[in-house]
Order: sequence, then C-alpha cells, then structure tokens
Amino acid sequence: MISIKSPAQLEKMRRAGSLLYEVMQKLQEVVRPGESTAAIDAYAEELIRRNDATPSFLNYRGFPASICASVDDEVVHGIPSEDVILKEGSILSIDCGLILDGWQADSAITVPVGEIPESLKRLIEVTRSSFFEGARMAVAGNRVGDIGHAVQSLTEGRGYGVIRDLTGHGIGRSMHEDPAVPNFGEPGTGARLRPGMTLAIEPMISLGGWHVKQLDDGWTIKTLDGSPCAHYEHTIAVTGGLPEIFTLPGFAWE
Ligand code: MG
Ligand code: MG
Repeated sequence: MISIKSPAQLEKMRRAGSLLYEVMQKLQEVVRPGESTAAIDAYAEELIRRNDATPSFLNYRGFPASICASVDDEVVHGIPSEDVILKEGSILSIDCGLILDGWQADSAITVPVGEIPESLKRLIEVTRSSFFEGARMAVAGNRVGDIGHAVQSLTEGRGYGVIRDLTGHGIGRSMHEDPAVPNFGEPGTGARLRPGMTLAIEPMISLGGWHVKQLDDGWTIKTLDGSPCAHYEHTIAVTGGLPEIFTLPGFAWE
C-alpha cells in the first residue's frame, strides 16, 4: 500500500532529509586516499547520533554499519571495514539513512577518491543527471514507470548499464515502503503518483552491463562484469508541481 503523508508528516521528513544532507556533505569531505571505509562509517554514526537521530542502516536485517560503502565495481551494500583502504583513482559510493523523530531519510552519492579517470567522472555525472531526469517526472498524475523510463533513456542512450535487480522505493516511517521505483520501465505504467507520496529515487549506473552478483558476505552487490558503478539517491516528495527534494534542501528546479 502506498501511503500519502500529511503536511505535518512531510515537515518531519523535510527535517530528517535536511539533517541527512548535512551528514552527507561532511562525509564527502573525509573521502581521500588512505582513509578506511570503517572510519567514514564511524564518523557517519557520530554525526547522526550527535543530532539526536538514529542510523537506519545499522542492524537493518543485521547490517553491521551506519553507511554502505561500495568501492569501484561494488554497486551497493558494501560493508565498511578497517581493511578497505581507499586508493587514489577509485570511486566510493556512500549510501546512508537516518531516522529523526520517527521519520526516515535515505541518500547516496558516489565520490571520487583523489584524481580519477575522465571515464569515471563522466559515469558519476551521468548517474547524477539521470536522477534529476527521473525525479523531474515525479509529478502528480504521472506514473512510477515514467521515472524509470527517464533514467533508462538518458543512461542507456549513452551506452551505460542500468542496474535492474535493485530499485528505489517509497519511504516514510519505514525505510522501504511501496512502491518499488525501478530505474527502467515503460512510460505510463505502474502506480499513479499523487501529492504527499514520498520516494527514494536512486539510479545505479554502470560503465558496462547491468547484471550483478552478491558476495559471500551476504550483502555486497558487485557488477557481474567487473565494471565500475555509480549511485545517486535522494528522498523526494510528490507535490502539486515539481517534486521537493528533502535530502537536497534549498534545491530549486530550473
Ligand atoms: Mg540509500
Ligand atoms: Mg534507498
């Protein structure tokens, strides 16, 4: 069932989103060669708890950390570790969620580690652009398939792969609510969007194919062909016009 949030509930999600934006900004600043993903995770937990919020990923179905830290060909759900030391030229996807006053926010970004090749810069940029292409379609009266179609058209049209096994999702009191929000699809299909729906839209885009595999740790998802992958996610609300992006406070559509 897709829940519609009241203005008061949307305000709480706006506050959660705004806090997560601040956390994500600070986490990006500490991404550098020689840093361990465990250190970034510890910093994330400290920032979240310092602001009277709770890390939503920690202990979610047994996940052991407050962020997912996925390097290079890892798509999502990488487990932070003292043994994963970031190297110059890599890309790190940081996915983080928090709960403030009972309401969830979820956001992800791929960050360069030092200087990275042009091909990876373009991958990060196209992934980011595909989020905005998709989110722009999240208007009342459109359907969920319109979002995925927009993401898919932009990225596949330029030769990138769209990860299909993982999707965006509704979000609210729970991190994962209905509907699923795939990053591919047919226009005019899927659930009808209505004001007060809140979604996490999160394209995962690879330099190669879209097939993935899960590692023996039970969490980490990698591309099957070993190609690097980028991730960009925000929590948004469907409004009477273009969507509000809770995890990007102050953002205004052109
Ligand atoms: Mg996320
Ligand atoms: Mg998500």
